Amino acid sequence: MIAAQLDVGGVTWQRESDVVIVGAGAAGLSAALRLIGAGRRVVLVTKGWLGDGSTAWAQGGLAAAIDPRDSATDHLSDTLQAGAGLCDEPTVAALASAAPAAIRRLIAVGARFDREPGGELALGLEGGHHARRIVHAGGDATGAELARVLAAAVRRAAERGQVELLEGAVAVDALTAVDRTVCGLRLIDAGGAVGELQAGAVVLATGGIGQAWPVTTNPTTATGDGLALALRAGAIMRDPEFVQFHPTALAPPPARRCLGDRVALVSEAVRGEGALLIDTHGRPVMTGVHPLGDLAPRDVVATAIQARMTSTGADHVLLDATHFSARTWLDHFPTILGLCTERGIDPRHEPIPVAPAEHYACGGVWADFDGVTSVPGLYAVGEVASTGVQGANRLASNSLTEALIAGERVGDLLARTPIRRLAATDRDRLPALGAQLRPEIVRVTGDGLGVLRSDRKLTEQLTALARLGASAVPGDRGARIDDGGTRAAVEATNLHTVSTLTATAARNRTESRGCHQRSDFPDPEPEWHRHQLLRLIDGEIQQLHVESAVAA
Ligand SMILES: Cc1cc2nc3c(=O)[nH]c(=O)nc-3n(C[C@H](O)[C@H](O)[C@H](O)COP(=O)(O)OP(=O)(O)OC[C@H]3O[C@@H](n4cnc5c(N)ncnc54)[C@H](O)[C@@H]3O)c2cc1C
Repeated sequence: MIAAQLDVGGVTWQRESDVVIVGAGAAGLSAALRLIGAGRRVVLVTKGWLGDGSTAWAQGGLAAAIDPRDSATDHLSDTLQAGAGLCDEPTVAALASAAPAAIRRLIAVGARFDREPGGELALGLEGGHHARRIVHAGGDATGAELARVLAAAVRRAAERGQVELLEGAVAVDALTAVDRTVCGLRLIDAGGAVGELQAGAVVLATGGIGQAWPVTTNPTTATGDGLALALRAGAIMRDPEFVQFHPTALAPPPARRCLGDRVALVSEAVRGEGALLIDTHGRPVMTGVHPLGDLAPRDVVATAIQARMTSTGADHVLLDATHFSARTWLDHFPTILGLCTERGIDPRHEPIPVAPAEHYACGGVWADFDGVTSVPGLYAVGEVASTGVQGANRLASNSLTEALIAGERVGDLLARTPIRRLAATDRDRLPALGAQLRPEIVRVTGDGLGVLRSDRKLTEQLTALARLGASAVPGDRGARIDDGGTRAAVEATNLHTVSTLTATAARNRTESRGCHQRSDFPDPEPEWHRHQLLRLIDGEIQQLHVESAVAA
């Protein structure tokens, strides 16, 4: 049973605004910037600080067809290829043609991207792209530069009174009117008080869901709050089963991991330099799997690693780069060497433990490229949304570009949309799950929703989640408020909801496509060449009619 709203205690303050943006990554910050000067009262809510989400960790860059030898048509074609038949072509075309101008706007607000000696932008090449089109900054620090420049611009606007910032605050639920239109937001502020912001529009820019998995590249903010909030508010979800894994995240022994950790990536470049994947018995992992061997595409490598982990019973495989010279480590991989050393691993003398890590949610809240969802008043942009750009598998470096452009587009839309004021109705609220359930929720998610899924594992996961969900104890909320744990309880509940939603969708989709791989249905099936829509009905996640991707 999933609640329509969460009971987080009595409301101690109420205010009005026109637009509330939840999230301060690329999507939320760019939305806020476009609303500045539009005469709207804007409140930007973030769990941590401006730029605290996945955006700041992005290493590759932003995809944009800038090179004169490249084109938006080629960018479109590479994206459709990666998306395995489930991209929305007009949306991808809009992204590809808007990307170069979006990069120019970033430069205009102060972004310092890497350049060639002649001064033109240095464009990188990444897997799946057939042209050099990755704009990057500081080598592998693109996200940090993007977050820096957007956050600085929003902070300047806040100092001028053009946007109000609520940092350290956690959005809990949408306020809804009698007709289910979203008319505001309930949140827990930085001081632990419950407040309500009445607003004409709520924009979700809450990023990913990685913290539901035991191993993820996502930061601690990525607990799927926006997805769960939208589901409770009645929004339609699309294709949440498509979760992209990075094949080689650093996997320190469990004793050195803690809940909420994000893992570091060991980039493909290490395999490009000749490092080999072996299992814990020393046998090669990729031999005979793919003609490109250890340099096969990400989903192929991730699936092969997962299969080997299952057959050996180990929670990792090994990346052997012990034959690299000291110079290679120092010149090419000083960061990875440092990350390993910090975790007590010396890759010059021992293989690096690696495992696939949850990396990116391709599905999410069903929205168009302007952020419009199935619920009036509720908008979704960036990783939390499913706009059709990412299809069944994300093309590298398209997500920052999408977050940036979709954020701008929702800002433009709300700048010209009349603001409606509606009164919120009280809905049935249920207590949040106890925060102590979080480790078990994460464990069962990792077991069921790994790289390689099956009906048996997903059914076991859903059974375990139902048992955990039934253990909510009405009335223990007070204790958690006193000890400051309401926020942790909300996150645990959202992780439970995200896990249930994703496993339900993954069990329904009886095929393998893109980044959804099933050991019991290893091939793509023609009848599944379509999207999957889900919604909360009477407390249960239910599949709606399927929308044909082919006919679109
Ligand atoms: C390690 C790593 C490397 C990556 N590399 C690349 C790359 O090179 N290129 C690329 O295109 N993509 C990359 N990605 C993916 C990309 O970074 C993300 O998809 C993108 O940054 C998402 O932006 P966003 O604005 O939607 O969300 P985020 O940047 O994640 O921001 C989410 C915001 O929502 C806030 N929030 C969440 N829940 C709540 C709540 N309940 N209340 C208030 N605030 C809330 C958070 O505090 C945060 O401010 C990478 C991701 C990771 C993790």
